[in-house]
Amino acid sequence: MDRDHACATDAAPPVDEPRRLPRTDVLLADPRLTAAARRLGRELVKDVVARVQTRARAGEVPIGEIADHAVAALPATASALRPVINATGVLLHTNLGRAALSKAARDAVLAASGTTDVELDLTTGARARRGSSTLDALLRSVPAAEAAHVVNNGAAALALTATALAQGREIIVSRGEMVEIGDGFRLPDLLESTGARLREVGTTNRTTPADYAAAVGPDTGFILKVHPSNFRVTGFTREASVAELAPLGVPVVADIGSGLLTPEPVLPGEPDATGWLRAGASLVTASGDKLLGGPQCGLLLGDAELVRRLARHPLARALRVDKLTLAALEATVRGPEPPTLTALRADPVELRRRAERLAEELRADGVDSRAVDTEAVVGGGGAPGVTLPSAAVSLPAEYAALLRGTDPAVLARVGDGRCLLDLRAVPVDVDARLAEAVRRAGASRGTAGRGTGT
Ligand SMILES: *Cc1c(COP(=O)(O)O)cnc(C)c1O
Repeated sequence: MDRDHACATDAAPPVDEPRRLPRTDVLLADPRLTAAARRLGRELVKDVVARVQTRARAGEVPIGEIADHAVAALPATASALRPVINATGVLLHTNLGRAALSKAARDAVLAASGTTDVELDLTTGARARRGSSTLDALLRSVPAAEAAHVVNNGAAALALTATALAQGREIIVSRGEMVEIGDGFRLPDLLESTGARLREVGTTNRTTPADYAAAVGPDTGFILKVHPSNFRVTGFTREASVAELAPLGVPVVADIGSGLLTPEPVLPGEPDATGWLRAGASLVTASGDKLLGGPQCGLLLGDAELVRRLARHPLARALRVDKLTLAALEATVRGPEPPTLTALRADPVELRRRAERLAEELRADGVDSRAVDTEAVVGGGGAPGVTLPSAAVSLPAEYAALLRGTDPAVLARVGDGRCLLDLRAVPVDVDARLAEAVRRAGASRGTAGRGTGT
């Protein structure tokens, strides 16, 4: 391109003229972007710059402001995972990573994230049992368990149990408990993939202790009792309790799913590890990131000899949890009430008060908002059919999509043609950020959501 042309372009760029963008390395030399490259990695910053350059080429960003826009578009961390406020009214939302960790658990994760004494005795300098303080914390919370082991998730706990105790043998399970846990994953398939054979007993709605007793034989690895955690069978039903199965002379493995270690008064129908161990289960398996409110992991609690066999099995190594999980789990079990339980136990009157306060505050800013009563659920494979009275801030429906784009993003529920921000799963100290997100969403919509607010 000739010189004259270039000067003319600099003075007043004609619309159809190719724009002369500053070179990428020149942009990356901006001190703010250099600092960001140290914090986030050069590739990530380059990608952000490239995206802004594309927008500049399309005339959406003034050429002199590319660096400014790139700085504004930098992500907070080097991971694309973004924080999302859970305003769905589903306490454990699988798509949102189930349980939110407590502050104590987050701090523990951060502290353990460098090199740490996860498998070392600092007093002697010798190797120590991996995660021993986490296992001790679990056993202190569940004295009915002789021993504990932790794996990657609830499914891994079952896979390890089936492999170590029933490979080439039989697992006796009720036809009413052959469940799909979600996203196409079925427990029977998982169990059979370990080389165990399923011995189905009873019917979908009725299985008696005698059905199990008739199936017990020399090939029995164990009886599996599964808590139907995401559906309910009602009407003409009968299931055998753990207490009825315990005397049959073979190990009873009980999958409680939800991870409650002790009874939870808000959910009287939900089994807990202590209760089923006391009733005679040899082993209880559970998830760590459901009602326990901790990190994703699978808990195995119970008979010392069985737990030892699981922990020593070669497969155990492939299902081993990392130091971050051990740290978060210990802090969840030992520490203050995690957010999941705070949400579960929240007082509906207080939720309504928060909704009123937020709706009023937003109305003052011209947002069409009002407080409404709602029903929340546990979700994520816990307490099916149980609803928890809750309250929400009701907004025009279009907010649902706009709020997914704010930072932090907000996931709402849409009902009755309105966008509902259900407060039960929103920690109270997040209310201000939630309101701010709504204001920004309203501003991005242009009209700022002006309405009657009725
Ligand atoms: C959730 C659940 C599982 C699977 O646990 P993950 O931690 O998701 O692997 C297994 N069994 C029951 C009864 C469950 O509720």
